[in-house]
Amino acid sequence: MPTQTKILVEKRMQFFLEHCQNKRNKSRVDVYMDNLKAVSGKEIYDLEGQDVLKFLIYKDVNDSGRTLIHHSQCPNIGLKTNADCLDKVKCGMRHQSESMRVGIIDKLRKGFEEVGKKGTYDQFTHLGDPTRAKEVSEYMAFKRREQGMCGVLPEQAKHISRVKMDKLMVNMYGKILGLKRGVRRLKVKQRRAMYAYCYAVIKRLAGAGHVIAPNTIRIPNNGGLVFNCTWDKTLTMGSHCFGIVCVKAKEPWCAHCLIDDWVHEAKTFGMSFHKGLLFPKINTDGSVKMKSRWNSKDLSETLKRDLQSFNLYEGETPHSFRHGGTANSLKQGKSLEDTMYLAFMKDIRTAQRYSRGLRVLFPNFDWKEVGVGSQDTPIDEDALMKQMLTWKAFSECKPL
Ligand SMILES: [Zn+2]
Ligand SMILES: [Zn+2]
Repeated sequence: MPTQTKILVEKRMQFFLEHCQNKRNKSRVDVYMDNLKAVSGKEIYDLEGQDVLKFLIYKDVNDSGRTLIHHSQCPNIGLKTNADCLDKVKCGMRHQSESMRVGIIDKLRKGFEEVGKKGTYDQFTHLGDPTRAKEVSEYMAFKRREQGMCGVLPEQAKHISRVKMDKLMVNMYGKILGLKRGVRRLKVKQRRAMYAYCYAVIKRLAGAGHVIAPNTIRIPNNGGLVFNCTWDKTLTMGSHCFGIVCVKAKEPWCAHCLIDDWVHEAKTFGMSFHKGLLFPKINTDGSVKMKSRWNSKDLSETLKRDLQSFNLYEGETPHSFRHGGTANSLKQGKSLEDTMYLAFMKDIRTAQRYSRGLRVLFPNFDWKEVGVGSQDTPIDEDALMKQMLTWKAFSECKPL
């Protein structure tokens, strides 16, 4: 190998190893393992099944869970609050069982594996993987039973409704009006543009930080923007095209216009968009921060803070913009009234699950009779969901 090439190989090797180091530094495996060691006061080789169990119980009572559980004899079962529950220990916020398994136990398991603690756990010698201890699997079975008994559906993601999104946009507009030109206002404008972008097209918070500015196309007559997304959560390197049409005249806010507003202001700070990212991180002096990009963790934290500052926060997560349906309906030209109606429903996905389930359970039922779809058109999922609101067996339906 010529010396020059050797140096290049050496440099690229260095670059790759730094990447590996950074990746390790940030991994959730380390975060939870450090957490477990801190809670139990032990080093990784001394950890036992009991320590893992205690850690899981600790995570279930330290207010980090977002799923409300009523115990099986609580009269308030089915209510979304435990304000009136007698026993605030038996009824409280817990981790949803499946997310605890995937989000915490699997991460710890990987951590133990890395130091050779793997396989069946022996409760006498404490050899093997402590996350496979009997008490851990018993606790998980207990949680599944507890959650099933109080009607918790698996995977309860909070979505930002259209109504809430409108409120957030209005509030951010007000905040911007109250700020003088400066880095603070610039940052608020950037966040507003990112939220609008996420809500309108990407449905995944992580994506916003990786949009390459020069790959964005403007529709003629400034009718909208088209993005070419080449980065995905799964890191598959395909490309994905999607666009937003200008709805300035019709809707309370327009993602295309808000993105333009951000770009316009950023340019006055000397930022350039013929290269680089559409939403780069910004230093306190208004220059572009090259070292890191917006990821879903950062974005969900700022979203939480923004929602909190306007008293709108209700446990939204990085997946909050995966609202399934609302923005799509808008794009497909459904009436705003229908869209607003759907947005009022707290959990659209539950309704969708029900409406699909009903059609499987009653394949011969004539849904057209209840006003869903017509002779030639297939059943309209949104209309069916709307119908379902009037089918509540035990409570009055309030007309909207
Ligand atoms: Zn209760
Ligand atoms: Zn617009």
